[in-house]
Amino acid sequence: MEGTVVDETLFAQFDPPVLAGSGCSACAVVVFPATSRCPSCADSVMEHRALPIRGTVWTWTSQSFAPKPPYEVPESGFEPFVVGYIDLGSVLVESRILGPVVIGDEVELRLLPLAGGDISFAFEKVAE
Ligand SMILES: [Zn+2]
Repeated sequence: MEGTVVDETLFAQFDPPVLAGSGCSACAVVVFPATSRCPSCADSVMEHRALPIRGTVWTWTSQSFAPKPPYEVPESGFEPFVVGYIDLGSVLVESRILGPVVIGDEVELRLLPLAGGDISFAFEKVAE
């Protein structure tokens, strides 16, 4: 895929895409994006953790107006999109979601080309 990845630290790998989080060696909390300090305990070592590529829609909403910069409005004009939280079992990930979904739908990670040539990620409903 052509373009520049928005933030390479979000990914453990790109083809196929896998998100990179971190897990606490002391209390087992998993976070995304990756961090060097555990949000729930002070005495910890955070370890690199590749996250599952499939999860379920925990909740979602429609973004019906253009977000503030650095969001870039496509040349074709702004169109509403779906955002939500994906339950990956060990962690909830905030993400764009491709297509209509309902809570509980199974979704899978995809790379998402953005206006301006950047690449981010989204989750897409798994075909039944
Ligand atoms: Zn911890």
